[in-house]
Amino acid sequence: MDIDGGKRKRPLSDLRRLVEYGRNDKNDVLRRGAEQGGTVMGFDPALNRTWHLASRPRGDIRPENFAMQTSPRPEPGENQFRVRLLYISLDPGQRLWIREKASYLPSLPLGGPMFSFAMGVVEASRHADFPDGTIVTGVFGWQDYALSDGTGAVRSVVADPRLPLLARFGMLEHIGLTAYFGTLDLLQPKSGETMVVSGAAGAVGSIAVQIGKIMGCRVVGIAGSDEKCAWLRDELGADAVVNYRAGPLGEQLQLACPDGIDSFFDNVGGECLEAVLDLINMKARIAMCGAVSQYGADDKPYGPSNIYNLLMKRARMEGFIVLDYAADKRWWAIAEEQLVQWHLQGRLKYRLDIVDGLERTPVAMTRLFNGTNAGKLLVKVSDDPTN
Ligand code: NAP
Repeated sequence: MDIDGGKRKRPLSDLRRLVEYGRNDKNDVLRRGAEQGGTVMGFDPALNRTWHLASRPRGDIRPENFAMQTSPRPEPGENQFRVRLLYISLDPGQRLWIREKASYLPSLPLGGPMFSFAMGVVEASRHADFPDGTIVTGVFGWQDYALSDGTGAVRSVVADPRLPLLARFGMLEHIGLTAYFGTLDLLQPKSGETMVVSGAAGAVGSIAVQIGKIMGCRVVGIAGSDEKCAWLRDELGADAVVNYRAGPLGEQLQLACPDGIDSFFDNVGGECLEAVLDLINMKARIAMCGAVSQYGADDKPYGPSNIYNLLMKRARMEGFIVLDYAADKRWWAIAEEQLVQWHLQGRLKYRLDIVDGLERTPVAMTRLFNGTNAGKLLVKVSDDPTN
C-alpha cells in the first residue's frame, strides 16, 4: 500500500504547542502538589481538576508521579468553546512523553499538565463551527474541562448510527488504525503464513490478531495471562497462544510456530522480540509498533542479541507511528470504513476497560504496565450525553 506517494508527514506542531503551554505554571503545580500531600478532590462542577506531572518516573510509572491542581471552571472567550471531558484514553506510549528525553514527541515539561487523546462534549460555545452538544476528540489534559478554539488536533465527531460512540476508542482512531496500517502496510501478510502478535490481548494487539486472521494467516498471540490467552483463542480465533509468564518464551513459541515466523506485529520489544528473531523465516517482516516492556528502561533498554538474524534471513524490521498516516485523510477514512465493515460482519471485536472517575487516572495508568487492563483502557470523566 502506497500512502501519499510514500511521503508521510508528522503533524506534531499542535502537540508541541501544548508542551509550551505546560511550561508556564511549573512551580505553582509543584507547590500545590506538595500542599495537597497526595490527596485528590472529587468532582465539583464549579471547579476544573487537572493532573500535572509532579515527577518523572524512574522505572515503573507510579501514581505519585502526578499531582492534582484545581482552578475555576474555565469560561470561553470569543471564538472559543469549553469541552467537558467524557473519556480519556490511556496509552502506554504516554510513558514516553514524560521521560526526560524526547520520544516521537517532545517530552512534557515537569510540572505541566498531563495530556491524552480524549473525547468530550462542547458546552458554552462561542464558536460558530462547534455548537453546544458537539462531540469532539483531540488531545486534552487529564482534566474535567478544557478550552479550545477548534484548531490543532480537535475534530468534531459525527456519530455513526451503526456503532456505539465508544467503538471509536475500541477499534478506530489510534487503536484500530495502528493495527490496520501496521499489519497491512508494513507486514503485508499472505494467506497461509504464520503471523505472531505480541501484546496480543491488548487494545492494538487484539485488532492486529483479527486482521491477521481475516488475511488468512495462521495467527499466534503472545499475552500475559491464561484468561487473556483463552480470550484470544476462543473469542478472537487465534490459532495458537503463548502465555509468556507461564514458562520460557522461546520454547513455547517454537512449539506454537512449527513452520517458523513470517511476520511479527511487535508491541512489546526486548526479550519478546529476541525470541521471535530466533524463529523468523526467509523474507520475514517485523512491524515495530511498540516496545512496552522497555518504556521504563530509560537509560538502557534491552536490545536483542540476535538482531543479525535479519541479515541471515534477508528480513525487514520497520518502526512506525500511526500519526504518520493521519496526514492522508483519504486513506484514514478508507481504513476506518474497512474496520467498521469487518466489525459489522462479526469478524472484528474489541473490548473496553473503563475506569470511573478522573481522580483514578494515575492509578489506572499503572495497569498498562502490570498487565491488569483487559482491553482498551479508558477513564470516564463525566456522563456521556448520547447515552
Ligand atoms: P494494551 O496492549 O492494551 O496494554 C498494554 C499491555 O502491554 C498490558 O496489558 C500488558 O499485557 C502488556 N505489557 C505491559 N508490560 C509488559 C512487559 N514488560 N512485557 C510484556 N508485555 C507487557 O496497550 P495498547 O494501547 O494496545 O498499546 C500496545 C502497544 O502499541 C504499546 O507498545 C504502544 O506503545 C503501542 N502503540 C503504538 C502506536 C504507534 O503508532 N506505533 C499507537 C498506539 C499504540 P500482558 O498482560 O499481555 O502482559
